[in-house]
Amino acid sequence: LYVEADLAEGVDVPCLPGQGHYLGQVMRKAEGDAVDLFNGRDGEWRASVASLRKDKAILVPRQRLRPQAATADIRLLLAPLKRDAMEWVVEKATELGVASIHPVFTARGIVGKINHERLSTIAREAAEQCERLDLPTIAPAMDLHAALEAWDGTPIFVGHERGAAPPLPTLLAGRNPPLALLVGPEGGFTKQELDVVGRRHFVSSAALGPRILRAETAAVAGLAVLQALAGD
Ligand code: SAM
Repeated sequence: LYVEADLAEGVDVPCLPGQGHYLGQVMRKAEGDAVDLFNGRDGEWRASVASLRKDKAILVPRQRLRPQAATADIRLLLAPLKRDAMEWVVEKATELGVASIHPVFTARGIVGKINHERLSTIAREAAEQCERLDLPTIAPAMDLHAALEAWDGTPIFVGHERGAAPPLPTLLAGRNPPLALLVGPEGGFTKQELDVVGRRHFVSSAALGPRILRAETAAVAGLAVLQALAGD
């Protein structure tokens, strides 16, 4: 269970709104039961439920189970997709250990805003489910060119579905994080966008096979390759 408070032996941890209800009604926990906690900083702790009333729960860490491990800095930039596809990508990217997700508006994108709170909740639930010990950051949505202007120079591989881009695994030989993947919207990037983006010294085009993948498939397939070849 993700909590915001510091985790230390014997120090009370209050639950976030909704979690008391989740513990009591969904997980069927009662006072004295064990729950495993993480906060992205202090590793994983086995805690006991000290009190549970309505949506208010107090948990007390008893034993540290795992130290906090650094997450490989592998990032995903993608054009916001329709709600279900976007939520699916956030869930799967979190499972695949993505460090941050950067929604970027592009010329052919058909989705003009994201529900940041909902995507953050999905990321938190996916992190709990897959037992990672931190949450990916979901950056505020911004225009692609503005995002690249503010970018820190981390290498970005832009998914290129037609043409002669080298395969992503070939480009990764000998590379280590930080690394990032950029995936276009349902309608793809415009030629002009690819030209402008490709002029940045930190951007290279990458192929994920000869077929045209849906944007959500490309995001998840690309992250799987990055994690398998350069991640942890
Ligand atoms: N409308 C485009 C077309 O028909 O040519 C397809 C765009 S595709 C659905 C959405 C995004 O997924 C692309 O912008 C690209 O970043 C990524 N993508 C899809 N297939 C890919 C592939 N085989 N290799 C690399 N990236 C791919």
